[in-house]
Amino acid sequence: MCFKSTILFMDAPETLLKAIAYFSDPQRAFEAAVEFRWPGGNITCPRCEQAKFSFIKTRRIWFCYVCKKQFTVKVGTVMEDSPLGLDKWMVAIWMLANCKNGISSYELAKNLGIRQQSAWFMLHRIREAMRDNADFKFGGEDGGPVESDETFIGPNPRKMHKSRRAQVQARDEGDKQYLGKTPVFGVLDRDLRQVRSKIIPNVKRETLQNEILNQVHRGSKVYTDSAVGYDHLRKEFVHEVVNHAKEYVNGQVHTQGMDNFWSLLKRTLRGTYVAVEPFHLDHYLTEQVFRYNNRATKDNKLTDTDRFALLMSQVAGKRLTYAQLTGKDTDSLHHPEAGTGQEEPF
Ligand SMILES: [Zn+2]
Repeated sequence: MCFKSTILFMDAPETLLKAIAYFSDPQRAFEAAVEFRWPGGNITCPRCEQAKFSFIKTRRIWFCYVCKKQFTVKVGTVMEDSPLGLDKWMVAIWMLANCKNGISSYELAKNLGIRQQSAWFMLHRIREAMRDNADFKFGGEDGGPVESDETFIGPNPRKMHKSRRAQVQARDEGDKQYLGKTPVFGVLDRDLRQVRSKIIPNVKRETLQNEILNQVHRGSKVYTDSAVGYDHLRKEFVHEVVNHAKEYVNGQVHTQGMDNFWSLLKRTLRGTYVAVEPFHLDHYLTEQVFRYNNRATKDNKLTDTDRFALLMSQVAGKRLTYAQLTGKDTDSLHHPEAGTGQEEPF
């Protein structure tokens, strides 16, 4: 939570420009990647976890004597099977960790000199590494107050094509608040200054309250707006409500931390990613939460280098296949330029 990297490589770059120069040297990029993957040089085979291998220096690969197979520094990480070099991966990781409003696959493709579809896939894999699997609950008896809120993400119906709008209206008839939008839930622990956010199927009372029960310690102070979904929380929590029809802040009782997170999220989605399919929205939430939870604060002065190092340390063991990303059952991404041949919209 209060992550502060021990920078493991020499002369760690501090800016994007320096990072590009630093990782353009294949040997330096390789050594840094090895150090992030196996800190302290404790290299083990990603398949059998044994340390019986030989290293083929000229090709930067290991040969495991137990499995009788080769492995590279990318095997078992989100970079596995990608033909793109570590230089490109590490610059992409730097940019996604640090660009406040994210980076589109078009921009990344142009900057790295790769195809847009490769960049698109790369960014989704990096987002997978951004996922925080912490399973502790927010709040707690001594813990700080928690804000809980929900929002709707999706296209502005007034800007939709007429036929699309009709389609969406027909589908969401009876529940006008949806209108083609996806409901998203979020909680913020004010003391930890951490947010969690996820897509929810609807904003019914049961759904919202279950999310709060899953994410927040019983007995914590929970602040929400006066949306009807939050009645009955008083049984489990010290629940206080700010009625947005009357006021936005009532002393400590407000959801302005979550409001701030939503506005950052919406700015990124509108400005950088433009048209996000609900299917992929979860990945963009992960990305925004990563940058928000690892932003520099008064007590935790994280730098770009720290955020990069944190993300590099998370790439190991996380792998996202093309099939998982697209819902298609062929993992054609042994080569990221393979696949459907369809250009993605962002
Ligand atoms: Zn092995």
